[in-house]
Amino acid sequence: MAAAKVKNKKPSERWTKYKLNGNKVERSKTCPKCGPAMFLAIHKDRIYCGNCKYTEFMKK
Ligand SMILES: [Zn+2]
Repeated sequence: MAAAKVKNKKPSERWTKYKLNGNKVERSKTCPKCGPAMFLAIHKDRIYCGNCKYTEFMKK
């Protein structure tokens, strides 16, 4: 039996959500109500603002 492969640990996994492209932050949307400073929480099928409860459903 082969031993399970150890997955490479990523040093800063939490930052993989935020892909920097120049000055723009991609992938995480910002809240249209709260402004560009407020990022929306990304869920499986929707994004959600914890500040004003704004919810936007993702299209697949
Ligand atoms: Zn908001």
